[in-house]
Amino acid sequence: MPAFNWQPGRADSLPDGQIVINGKSVLSKHIQAIRGMNDILPTETPRWWLIENVFAELMAAYGYAEIRLPIVEKTELFKRSIGEVTDIVEKEMYTFEDRNGDSLTLRPEGTAGCVRACIQNGLLYNQTQRLWYKGPMFRHERPQKGRYRQFHQLGVEVFGFGGPDIDAELIMLTARLWKKLGLADDVSLEINSLGSVEARRVYRLALVDYLQQYREQLDEDSLRRLDTNPLRILDSKNPQMQALIEAAPKMMDFLDEESRLHFDRLCQLLDTVGITYRINTRLVRGLDYYCKTVFEWVTARLGAQGTVCAGGRFDGLVEQLGGRATTAMGFALGMERLVALLENSPLPKSHAPHAYLLLAGEAAERKGVLLAEQLRDRLPGLRLQVNAGGGSFKSQMKRADKSNALLALILGEDEIKRDEIGIKDLRGNAGQISIARAELTDYLQNMLTL
Ligand code: ATP
Ligand code: MG
Repeated sequence: MPAFNWQPGRADSLPDGQIVINGKSVLSKHIQAIRGMNDILPTETPRWWLIENVFAELMAAYGYAEIRLPIVEKTELFKRSIGEVTDIVEKEMYTFEDRNGDSLTLRPEGTAGCVRACIQNGLLYNQTQRLWYKGPMFRHERPQKGRYRQFHQLGVEVFGFGGPDIDAELIMLTARLWKKLGLADDVSLEINSLGSVEARRVYRLALVDYLQQYREQLDEDSLRRLDTNPLRILDSKNPQMQALIEAAPKMMDFLDEESRLHFDRLCQLLDTVGITYRINTRLVRGLDYYCKTVFEWVTARLGAQGTVCAGGRFDGLVEQLGGRATTAMGFALGMERLVALLENSPLPKSHAPHAYLLLAGEAAERKGVLLAEQLRDRLPGLRLQVNAGGGSFKSQMKRADKSNALLALILGEDEIKRDEIGIKDLRGNAGQISIARAELTDYLQNMLTL
């Protein structure tokens, strides 16, 4: 057997299914996951739960309802909503033909599907909606820290609210989320206004005029975008472009009256509730459908992938997808980036079992199953792991310890004879005791309410 020189840190940089053996890259016998699509292991899921649970509670507290949407949609939906000339549609979508020859796409984001579902199910007729969703998204990007090909978002979309009060509400509830997760000091808020469609058209002309003068300084991406999506040039991460972008005309100076008032009112509301923000006139979103307010929560702790949450208003999208004109706004936050921010914070509540039941001998195995089910009937909050697959007392005790349970419950021949059960404290110094089996429910009940 060759010695395996497994280098997990390098796994990302290797083509699919290859590992390094004795310095040579070879095809693995084992099938590997798709590059940029990660397993979330049992040691990590408690952190995911924490975020998801805090978020779900927060949504309920603000009066938002969950919507669950398909992961696959018709390709046309994303082309028509996100825009043909965006990075996502141009080069990041997982698109395939299904067996009927229809072109389908793994959703790269949640808004398009949510709008589609609202129109299709009549959720926007004479009513407003405050909705949230969670789940995986797919983009064929270059995998790196904080950037994956399958990643997960928590998202919110509201429909039928045109005023800045709802913009403020979305920002306030995200601010509360950071507070609840203990991340308030790690993120900061940037806001901007993209104005009305008409104001953006005028701004776009001014921006293109300006950039044309410096054509020779534009990088390849920006040259391409100059004709197709010039606002996206402002979003360029290329350091050599920064001075040029800094000096470009600012959307803020082109805002229409209504958008200006809307933005001023939003700033006032944020001031009122004490949320600090930075007006970033270069903040545009990668997608075509935004107007008026856009915002991002950014962190300095994650390097280049520093945007944790991003959103904005998209008043034109419902109509663009065939619905009745409806104002709308939303945001999405990246779970992987949030999990990374929480990497070093302790998990508040463990999901480890309260008790692990050891069953020594055949009689105990038979009795134990019944006992465990009775305990579960009586104590619905109890987390009980029952030994399975037999094993010596010693090996069962090892498993009990490994399960992280607080207590070992021991049922052996002696205990059965005496109608008792042994209880061993696995985490403290209380040692081992025996109690009458009839008293076990009360004993555990007391422990649960402590
Ligand atoms: P970025 O500028 O980082 O590429 P984006 O503008 O493409 O982000 P959105 O489409 O607004 O991102 O998605 C909202 C959030 O989803 C982002 O702020 C980020 O936290 C997360 N996100 C987006 N793409 C990825 C990805 N490939 N991997 C992990 N998280 C992502
Ligand atoms: Mg992106």
